[in-house]
Amino acid sequence: MHELSICQGLISQVQKIAADNNARSVELIKLRVGGLSGVEPPLLERAFEIARAGTIASEAELEIEAGPVVVRCQDCGASSAVAVNQLVCQDCGDWRVTVTEGEELLLLSLEIEQM
Ligand SMILES: [Zn+2]
Repeated sequence: MHELSICQGLISQVQKIAADNNARSVELIKLRVGGLSGVEPPLLERAFEIARAGTIASEAELEIEAGPVVVRCQDCGASSAVAVNQLVCQDCGDWRVTVTEGEELLLLSLEIEQM
Protein backbone atom coordinates (compact mmCIF):
# COMPACT_ATOMS: atom_id res chain seq x y z
CA MET A 1 0.00 0.00 0.00
CA HIS A 2 1.41 3.30 -1.22
CA GLU A 3 -0.29 5.20 1.60
CA LEU A 4 1.40 3.13 4.29
CA SER A 5 4.91 4.07 3.22
CA ILE A 6 3.81 7.70 3.08
CA CYS A 7 2.49 7.44 6.62
CA GLN A 8 5.61 5.76 7.89
CA GLY A 9 7.66 8.61 6.43
CA LEU A 10 5.27 11.07 7.98
CA ILE A 11 5.46 9.43 11.39
CA SER A 12 9.25 9.49 11.40
CA GLN A 13 9.13 13.18 10.51
CA VAL A 14 6.62 13.73 13.34
CA GLN A 15 8.76 11.76 15.79
CA LYS A 16 11.76 13.90 15.00
CA ILE A 17 9.83 17.15 15.51
CA ALA A 18 8.30 15.78 18.72
CA ALA A 19 11.74 14.84 20.06
CA ASP A 20 13.16 18.26 19.16
CA ASN A 21 10.34 19.88 21.14
CA ASN A 22 10.43 17.59 24.18
CA ALA A 23 6.96 16.33 23.45
CA ARG A 24 5.26 13.84 25.71
CA SER A 25 2.68 13.03 23.09
CA VAL A 26 1.40 14.24 19.75
CA GLU A 27 -2.25 15.28 19.78
CA LEU A 28 -2.96 16.38 16.26
CA ILE A 29 -1.29 16.18 12.88
CA LYS A 30 -2.46 18.46 10.10
CA LEU A 31 -1.72 17.53 6.53
CA ARG A 32 -2.37 19.12 3.20
CA VAL A 33 -2.94 16.65 0.42
CA GLY A 34 -2.90 18.01 -3.12
CA GLY A 35 -5.59 16.86 -5.52
CA LEU A 36 -2.96 15.41 -7.84
CA SER A 37 -0.82 13.75 -5.19
CA GLY A 38 -2.33 10.35 -5.99
CA VAL A 39 -3.15 9.87 -2.32
CA GLU A 40 -6.63 8.81 -1.25
CA PRO A 41 -7.48 10.48 2.08
CA PRO A 42 -9.58 7.52 3.39
CA LEU A 43 -6.73 5.12 2.66
CA LEU A 44 -4.29 7.55 4.19
CA GLU A 45 -6.34 7.64 7.39
CA ARG A 46 -6.38 3.88 7.63
CA ALA A 47 -2.67 3.60 6.94
CA PHE A 48 -2.06 6.28 9.53
CA GLU A 49 -3.73 4.17 12.21
CA ILE A 50 -1.32 1.36 11.42
CA ALA A 51 1.75 3.58 11.19
CA ARG A 52 1.12 5.49 14.42
CA ALA A 53 0.78 2.39 16.62
CA GLY A 54 3.40 2.25 19.33
CA THR A 55 4.84 5.67 18.51
CA ILE A 56 4.67 8.99 20.31
CA ALA A 57 1.79 9.79 17.96
CA SER A 58 -0.24 6.69 18.86
CA GLU A 59 -3.15 8.83 20.10
CA ALA A 60 -2.82 11.57 17.53
CA GLU A 61 -5.66 12.68 15.35
CA LEU A 62 -5.10 13.21 11.68
CA GLU A 63 -6.63 16.19 9.96
CA ILE A 64 -6.47 16.22 6.19
CA GLU A 65 -6.96 19.38 4.23
CA ALA A 66 -7.45 19.15 0.49
CA GLY A 67 -4.95 21.39 -1.25
CA PRO A 68 -5.79 23.36 -4.38
CA VAL A 69 -4.65 22.39 -7.86
CA VAL A 70 -2.98 25.33 -9.58
CA VAL A 71 -1.69 25.41 -13.14
CA ARG A 72 0.33 27.95 -15.06
CA CYS A 73 -0.42 28.45 -18.71
CA GLN A 74 2.47 27.98 -21.10
CA ASP A 75 0.75 30.20 -23.60
CA CYS A 76 -0.55 33.27 -21.76
CA GLY A 77 1.31 32.77 -18.47
CA ALA A 78 -1.77 33.02 -16.27
CA SER A 79 -1.99 30.96 -13.10
CA SER A 80 -5.34 29.50 -12.24
CA ALA A 81 -6.89 27.15 -9.73
CA VAL A 82 -8.58 24.31 -11.57
CA ALA A 83 -10.49 21.10 -10.97
CA VAL A 84 -8.47 17.90 -10.92
CA ASN A 85 -10.19 16.60 -14.03
CA GLN A 86 -9.93 19.87 -15.96
CA LEU A 87 -6.32 20.89 -16.26
CA VAL A 88 -6.71 23.82 -18.64
CA CYS A 89 -5.95 27.51 -18.40
CA GLN A 90 -8.95 29.34 -16.97
CA ASP A 91 -7.90 32.47 -18.84
CA CYS A 92 -7.50 31.35 -22.43
CA GLY A 93 -8.55 27.71 -22.30
CA ASP A 94 -5.19 26.33 -23.44
CA TRP A 95 -4.39 22.83 -22.24
CA ARG A 96 -0.62 23.35 -22.35
CA VAL A 97 -0.23 24.06 -18.68
CA THR A 98 2.28 23.26 -15.97
CA VAL A 99 1.05 22.09 -12.61
CA THR A 100 2.55 24.41 -9.99
CA GLU A 101 0.57 23.17 -7.00
CA GLY A 102 -1.44 20.06 -6.23
CA GLU A 103 1.09 17.25 -6.28
CA GLU A 104 2.33 17.81 -2.77
CA LEU A 105 1.70 16.17 0.53
CA LEU A 106 2.65 18.62 3.22
CA LEU A 107 2.88 18.40 6.96
CA LEU A 108 1.19 21.67 7.92
CA SER A 109 1.34 21.60 11.69
CA LEU A 110 1.50 19.50 14.80
CA GLU A 111 -0.09 19.87 18.16
CA ILE A 112 2.00 18.35 20.88
CA GLU A 113 1.83 18.00 24.61
CA GLN A 114 5.10 18.92 26.23
CA MET A 115 6.76 17.26 29.15
ZN1 LIG B 1 -3.69 30.74 -20.86
